[in-house]
Amino acid sequence: MIWPKNLSNKVKHNVNLAGLTSFKIGGPARYFFAPADVLELSQALSCAQKARLHIFVLGSGSNILISDQGVSGLVISLNRQSFKKISHQGSCIIAGSGLKLSQLVSYAASRALGGAEFLAGIPGSVGGSLIGNAGAWGYSIGSLVEQLGVMDYCGKIRVLSAKQLKFGYRQSNLSKYIIIWVKLKLFSADKQTVARQIKKYLAIRKTTQNSRLPSAGCIFKNPPEDSAGRLIDQCGLKGKVKGQAAVCSKHANFILNTKGARFGDVLALMNLMRKKVKVKFKVNLEPEIKIWK
Ligand SMILES: Cc1cc2nc3c(=O)[nH]c(=O)nc-3n(C[C@H](O)[C@H](O)[C@H](O)COP(=O)(O)OP(=O)(O)OC[C@H]3O[C@@H](n4cnc5c(N)ncnc54)[C@H](O)[C@@H]3O)c2cc1C
Repeated sequence: MIWPKNLSNKVKHNVNLAGLTSFKIGGPARYFFAPADVLELSQALSCAQKARLHIFVLGSGSNILISDQGVSGLVISLNRQSFKKISHQGSCIIAGSGLKLSQLVSYAASRALGGAEFLAGIPGSVGGSLIGNAGAWGYSIGSLVEQLGVMDYCGKIRVLSAKQLKFGYRQSNLSKYIIIWVKLKLFSADKQTVARQIKKYLAIRKTTQNSRLPSAGCIFKNPPEDSAGRLIDQCGLKGKVKGQAAVCSKHANFILNTKGARFGDVLALMNLMRKKVKVKFKVNLEPEIKIWK
């Protein structure tokens, strides 16, 4: 693979991905690149496209399960400073896609801007959260979006307005794009009320998801009008173990990596969860996590 001269020393080979995910599972990326800016990103994309490399975009790695063999394409990480900027114009926040949601939430709270509190405790980046329309407590990030800066996989930049975007439950119409930045519409609020709300959400998370073990959050999407966790729990699967992976005993829709779990351990548990729920409730569970292989 021949990269443009200015990138050839910057594109790394065989970079282990497990440590870059919250699950701590997965093999290496054949090529790994963290562009310094949009120009480098666009150069790498057009080069990878010409070589027909599969391109994977990595955010905070909190919603992915990666094969033990790793991935044979190019993994792009938007964790450099130019993708993590944040500013505000009135009650709107403009945030880079590589920024962590926790930083976004703190920024909004410190400027007395309300509307993003529900994102507190979700361990993702802005970009990853927009792709999957992350949310909690009945709210999701898509409903806050006013404008989106994206790059297509050929390296072309576009600005999309809210009207061009479609967000549904843990989904969006953004799979053709790499998210670069977003403009979110918040509202002026009382600083202490915002802080109290964030504290409340974090406290609930602590009691319902309290595990220090690696995971990728909810494995399956909730079926309409129901909770995947409830169905899995009703199948008696809390605490069920395959290899070094276990169904969380606090929240049945979480799989925990108890120590050195393999990709196959998690898949085996996922298959079991799907099968049992299908047999008992005639419900097909759909994965929420993204699987890279
Ligand atoms: C303990 C725990 C609790 C969680 N709680 C919640 C919750 O309450 N609600 C919720 O919705 N989720 C939750 N999650 C899941 C996860 O944090 C969210 O889905 C988060 O939004 C994923 O963002 P990320 O940056 O980690 O994405 P990644 O895992 O890195 O990537 C996820 C997907 O987004 C794509 N992607 C990432 N960045 C970009 C980009 N810039 N442009 C284009 N594509 C991109 C990736 O290619 C991949 O397909 C939880 C996870 C954990 C571990």
